[in-house]
Amino acid sequence: MQALTFTTPPPSDSAAEALRHEVREFLGVELRDHTPFQRAESWSGNDPAFSRKMGKRGWIGMTMPKAYGGHERSALERYVVLEEMLAAGAPVGHHWVADRQSGPSILRNGTEEQRQTILPKIAAGECSFCIGMSEPDSGSDLAAARTRAQRVQGGWLVNGTKVWTSGAHKADYMILFCRTGAKSEDDRHAGASQFLVEMKQARAAGMTVRPIVDMRGAHHFNEVAIEDLLLPEDALLGQEGDGWKQVTAELAFERSGPDRFLSSFTLLVELVRTLGPAAPERAAVAIGRLTSHILALRRLSRSVAGMLQAGEDPALQAALVKDLGNVLEQETVEVVRLLIDVEPSEDDGNPPLVAVLAHLIMTAPSFSLRGGTREILRGIIARGLGLR
Ligand SMILES: Cc1cc2nc3c(=O)[nH]c(=O)nc-3n(C[C@H](O)[C@H](O)[C@H](O)COP(=O)(O)OP(=O)(O)OC[C@H]3O[C@@H](n4cnc5c(N)ncnc54)[C@H](O)[C@@H]3O)c2cc1C
Repeated sequence: MQALTFTTPPPSDSAAEALRHEVREFLGVELRDHTPFQRAESWSGNDPAFSRKMGKRGWIGMTMPKAYGGHERSALERYVVLEEMLAAGAPVGHHWVADRQSGPSILRNGTEEQRQTILPKIAAGECSFCIGMSEPDSGSDLAAARTRAQRVQGGWLVNGTKVWTSGAHKADYMILFCRTGAKSEDDRHAGASQFLVEMKQARAAGMTVRPIVDMRGAHHFNEVAIEDLLLPEDALLGQEGDGWKQVTAELAFERSGPDRFLSSFTLLVELVRTLGPAAPERAAVAIGRLTSHILALRRLSRSVAGMLQAGEDPALQAALVKDLGNVLEQETVEVVRLLIDVEPSEDDGNPPLVAVLAHLIMTAPSFSLRGGTREILRGIIARGLGLR
């Protein structure tokens, strides 16, 4: 068996702690009227005005070069902002995907014009992205994607269907993964490319976004049908044929952050608040256990942030953080459900703990699906350890 190593995360410093203080002060004012139920939306909560305020503070695109509207802050400082936002349940959904993975991907693979045009808008919190990877017959097995972009006079002609596309109905851009060439005998990942799709133009020219309503009755994701959509030549992101390499690098950003273990954090906060200092011993032990898991995951996740900053490719470590994080997020819901004797319900007038629990019972099953399923992540980890 091979070893899986995590580097020691950089220690917190006075600049990072001063920033933490500043972020908490900001959140104390901005979220003062937010109910626990709203906070439980976590990074699915969407508020463009809030994102613009964060952009003005310099808290989006924090590690990007100043030349592109970024702030050249450290990965640790960015991490502080992310974890404070998530712990407080701030509505960061409008800019989350753009800040987490689309911006870094454009910085790494984009043309100078793409960087100049889009990155400053991301950093300002004025630009949202969606991820066009999954298809009806290609979720876990992304290499089976059938959406095709064909080189034609004046650009690329795209046909195919994407599914489960979170936020496609609101996003300004999509990064679209599709086939541009043939797979080779010995490499089924060959012949794929990524495109930057301007959604407003695309929706007027061959793209149809249809809502998919989840089991809570909420509309977060969509089916996106693409029929004879002509993309301009310069919509190609990175090199033609490099789509697989680019998309796997993007997944390391997507899988390793604190969003992968703090989705149920509001529930833990409400549990502590409700039980108070006289919590029964059984509950205190459970809360202690969950908290220690969060602290261990935080250390692993900060280590991956450090590796990404150093230009390494921690795809394997990111898969591990996401899998362990999803286990914790789902376990938190189960632990609270068994500890308190209530009928979970989102109805108005219920105590916050009851409403937050009801919300998370309905959303937590998706935590180990979105961004890569548990089985697939464990397969990646096993392969990385030399076990398969
Ligand atoms: C809330 C949510 C938001 C999402 N947002 C987006 C988005 O914005 N953009 C996007 O592109 N996608 C998005 N997805 C899709 C998500 O990435 C896919 O659902 C996921 O990759 C699984 O694909 P699938 O649904 O086709 O399931 P399948 O791939 O059909 O898998 C079904 C089951 O079989 C298991 N399985 C499949 N292959 C193997 C294998 N080789 N070994 C062992 N087990 C296997 C899976 O683990 C799973 O349990 C989202 C999903 C959810 C739930």
